[in-house]
This record gives sequence, C-alpha cells and structure tokens, in this order.
Amino acid sequence: MKYSVRTGANEMTVQTRRFIDLADIIGLRFECKRCRASLELTLERLEQGTLHKCPSCHRDWALLNDVSREGSFIQFVRCFNELAKLLGEPSPLGFSLTLEIKEPATPAQ
Ligand SMILES: [Zn+2]
Repeated sequence: MKYSVRTGANEMTVQTRRFIDLADIIGLRFECKRCRASLELTLERLEQGTLHKCPSCHRDWALLNDVSREGSFIQFVRCFNELAKLLGEPSPLGFSLTLEIKEPATPAQ
C-alpha cells in the first residue's frame, strides 16, 4: 500500500500519521463471520444481489431486521468511484483528498 507519513516529535513521543489516496484503494474484501470465506471484488463490480448471502455457507449477509442493507454498500461504492474520478488527475478541484488510516499494531515485545 502506498501511503505518506508525517512525523512530529518532542522529547518523549513520536507520532506517525498515515494517509492514503482514494486511488490507492483498489478493491473490497468481505469476510463471512461464520465460515471465514472471503469475497474480493474490484470497486466496479459490486452489483445488486452480490451481498445477499455468503457464497460459501449461504448465511444471510446484509439482512438486518428483515431489511437488506446491501443498497448502502452499493451506494457507497458508487459515491467512492464518483469521488475517485473527480479527484483523479487532472482534477478540476482546488484540493486533494487523502484518508487517514490507523497505525498498524506493533507486535508485543
Ligand atoms: Zn460463510
């Protein structure tokens, strides 16, 4: 993963912050909470019906109180793609956008 790092330091602590471009995000990974099977998709390929059930154990995936939440994920991907295109070069926008991500957990010593 490509990311940029900003570091600020004082006597006692060093803080590292990581940012990624939308263009660095290339896919989605859904993992079944029951059987751990995973479904990996490019951002263009989330279609209606894809998240209804686990492709492996067929557990309901996006059903919450009898209502499918799949539409929210489809909408998210649509908005994401729209913004990624708008932010891509050459962008007509007067700013660039990066997302801050958590620092990876450091192994216990
Ligand atoms: Zn499953």
